[in-house]
Amino acid sequence: MSSCALLMVGALALGQPGGEWFDDYKPFTDIEARLHAMAADRPDLCTLVDIGDSIEGRDIWALRITGSATGKPAVLFSGTQHAREWISPMTNMFIADQLVYGYDTDPTIRSRVDSAEILIVPVVNPDGYVYSWTPNNRMWRKNRRDNRDGTYGVDLNRNWDASWGGPGSSGNPSSSTYRGTAAFSEPESAALRDFFIANPDIVSTVDFHAYGQQILSPYGYTYDLPADYDLLMDIGAGMQSEIAAVHGEFYEVGATAGTLYRVSGGLKDWAYDDQGLLSYTIELRPEGSSPGFALPPQQIIPTSEEGLAAALYLIDRSIAIPEPSTLALLGMAAVGLLVCALRNRPPN
Ligand SMILES: [Zn+2]
Repeated sequence: MSSCALLMVGALALGQPGGEWFDDYKPFTDIEARLHAMAADRPDLCTLVDIGDSIEGRDIWALRITGSATGKPAVLFSGTQHAREWISPMTNMFIADQLVYGYDTDPTIRSRVDSAEILIVPVVNPDGYVYSWTPNNRMWRKNRRDNRDGTYGVDLNRNWDASWGGPGSSGNPSSSTYRGTAAFSEPESAALRDFFIANPDIVSTVDFHAYGQQILSPYGYTYDLPADYDLLMDIGAGMQSEIAAVHGEFYEVGATAGTLYRVSGGLKDWAYDDQGLLSYTIELRPEGSSPGFALPPQQIIPTSEEGLAAALYLIDRSIAIPEPSTLALLGMAAVGLLVCALRNRPPN
């Protein structure tokens, strides 16, 4: 889209938080246009950053939201590593929308935006997301890497340098959990990695996925529990109760491997191990495989309100949180014995 067209979108007064935009899922170009419009509407509060390009040359965008002053703790929210999880970009956009357009009228929003820096990367995998909007490809999960054996796609959330290649990822290029040829072989995961590294003020992060209604901490690659398990569970329980207070929905809290399944090469574990961040995956609505990824559009706003409640709680805790302990302090005596049977459903 040309900058002129983007300016015209920006002129379409977005003014109100929420609103009709969230009544239905939106294609990538609509998401891009809204991001540009938000940055144009409120340059005092937000800046749009191009953090890198996808394989097919699309931009990966981060919206940086903050009031005045610098040196504040930052919290990063991301989504859509997995293309078919359409509620994830909507929830990220809803959080951005509420923070930006609620700033003038809601003192509780203003205090958060003034006390923290919020970084939102709504679509980490734009190629896969665009592909999932094409006929018969709604259930596409991976990026659009040409694996040169007739198959396409790497699972970006198996491509991070966190026990890359381990259990809960596949070396088979045709698999929906194909990990790629090396850690960070994919430009999309590498771009988000570099953005984390370039923003050392980040103290916590949530990567939104669907589905399952779960708040998941490290680790995915091992049943061992992280050194900061108690703190991670305490904050997780806080997000859980904030979510429940919105519409009464229950989101389970736990470490990934024992609560969901093993995941090696995931963003969350990399952010915790490599960057020392309080790190979560939130699996949004629905709870189960019906309707699964095909969450009805009427549930976009209620689900996004749950994501917002969790986000605001994490921002509050991040403003005053102690630094997580480092791996050096990790007692490997962790009792990772929360073994659950793998659930018979597609990876999420
Ligand atoms: Zn996912």
